[in-house]
Amino acid sequence: MNCTVCSLCGKPIEAYDIALNNLLIDTDHSVDICQQCIDAFTAWQGKRLSKLFPTKTMKKRYGNEQVTSR
Ligand SMILES: [Zn+2]
Repeated sequence: MNCTVCSLCGKPIEAYDIALNNLLIDTDHSVDICQQCIDAFTAWQGKRLSKLFPTKTMKKRYGNEQVTSR
């Protein structure tokens, strides 16, 4: 049975779909990731983005003025 294994957790990927489970890094590197790891990754990136973007937005918005607490 040809079963693709997740590059992160090493578990076999059920219902492998190259469009959903294959992350292309560059022409020489690609990784297969299971849905569970994608969910974990997405949650992690969500936290990361929510940490980064409010800061960037705040800096853009309030970069030239002081942020006052009301
Ligand atoms: Zn995995």
